[in-house]
Amino acid sequence: MLVGGDLVGASDGGTFESIDPSTEDVIAEVPSATLADVERAYQAAAKAQPAWQKLGLDGRRACFEKLGALVAEHHEELALLDAIDSGMPIAAARGDVSSLLPRFRDWPALVLSIKGETLDASPGNLHYTTMEPYGVCGRIIPFNHPAVFAIGKVLIPLIAGNTVLLKPAEQTPLSALRFAELAAEVLPPGTLSILSGGGAVGAAIVAHPQIKRIAFTGSSETAMKIQATAATAGIKNLSLELGGKNALIAFPDVDLDTLIDGAVKGMNFRLSQGQSCGSTSRAFIHRDLYEDFLAGVAERVEKFKIGIACDESTDMGPVVSAAHYARVSGYLEAGKQQGARLVTGGGRPEHLGDKGYYLEPTVFADVDMHMRIASEEIFGPVLSVLPWDNYDDVIDQANAVQFGLTASVWTDDIHLAHRAASQLRAGYVWINNTSNHYWGMPFGGFNNSGLGREEGIDELRSYYETKSVNVIIDDHSRLRARIDRSSGSAG
Ligand code: NAD
Repeated sequence: MLVGGDLVGASDGGTFESIDPSTEDVIAEVPSATLADVERAYQAAAKAQPAWQKLGLDGRRACFEKLGALVAEHHEELALLDAIDSGMPIAAARGDVSSLLPRFRDWPALVLSIKGETLDASPGNLHYTTMEPYGVCGRIIPFNHPAVFAIGKVLIPLIAGNTVLLKPAEQTPLSALRFAELAAEVLPPGTLSILSGGGAVGAAIVAHPQIKRIAFTGSSETAMKIQATAATAGIKNLSLELGGKNALIAFPDVDLDTLIDGAVKGMNFRLSQGQSCGSTSRAFIHRDLYEDFLAGVAERVEKFKIGIACDESTDMGPVVSAAHYARVSGYLEAGKQQGARLVTGGGRPEHLGDKGYYLEPTVFADVDMHMRIASEEIFGPVLSVLPWDNYDDVIDQANAVQFGLTASVWTDDIHLAHRAASQLRAGYVWINNTSNHYWGMPFGGFNNSGLGREEGIDELRSYYETKSVNVIIDDHSRLRARIDRSSGSAG
């Protein structure tokens, strides 16, 4: 781990195993941070923060340039670690790490847009605001894009002048720990600490009374626990990027092939085995297209080559862990038991033997909103398809879940497209597209899918507190008289 500038094990020597989900082999023994490690990281971060802030944008940008160059140099290694550790196919893992590289340049440039205000509030007074970093921030991330989250999500608080404690997911800590070694070469000691471990390490960061700004990406269930912990630990600013059960709605006028390609892409089968918060895993297909859509999706996904993540020819790797395999398998059983029609998939690919957490890409048809596979986040390669005939009903059903992260609308009718986009309760709506986030566009959820927006100026701004400053600019004698008149009136 990286704690206060030192590359260390846990203070009590504790470790846990990191498992390759493709083979079930143990890849590494990883330090399991203790409460004392979290406290040490906090003390180092608090000590380092004033100097880091004083470096100014130019100084921090220079560090970002060096760190970005190191990440680019170790691009293949980071991608390989993600493939081995998470089961993400190597080609997808390379794409993930590449997507990070422009951020080392873009985030510093965006800081130029963080400006205070002046106000013409009262004569003889100057009022202005300054934007000040929080100090020490906590960052807790999930397993599904390990390097992207470990690296991408610490750059924003850092460039704003904060120091950071990062906790990667226990299933996929390796690229974060390799990044820790790279960061130790460039960043001043204490600026960034990376603490591996389970939920207790995350909880300790949230519970730390002096860490006011916490950003969490993960499940809605964990976010609720974090809110509860934070509520009794102090007054905290939380941002929460959470789960989804995202609707895709197809109208009868669309080109069927384009729609099928879009729906398959929207599931992120090949990027992350469907383990993506933004996956459009509930497809509402107009009855006119319904059976042809099912046949077309089945035909496409049955061609995927499922296998070891590091194999260059693999389209879909395993899901991340034994526990997650059991969880997704439970939903496959629930779908079958609750009466959904299994169109393709539904279990383990037989040709892959019994090692590795492999699941077939699965499509259920005739799903209705009472089934668990229609309303709960599965976070795996499982697409639930529902037929529809009536516009108002389909919008109601799309909105009838606890989530509201993304949605996708397919039609060539521009009026209908925008009407549907306005009525869907989701933080990111695609029209005739799925899956891509465009950097700079805010990303985040309605309902239980989250709080706050990331990936652009909103996120950067969320790492500053605003301070209002008032100064009297009248001449000295009038100032004296004014102070005499107003003494004792503050409050
Ligand atoms: P998770 O909620 O189980 O764990 C996420 C992180 O929280 C891990 O690092 C974990 O160790 C930590 N944690 C667990 N208990 C904690 C506690 N009590 N206090 C503090 N930290 C704790 O999520 P996961 O299974 O790793 O990831 C899948 C979830 O993440 C899905 O719901 C998915 O939709 C969501 N996700 C959301 C986004 C987004 O941008 N909205 C992106 C990726 C993933």
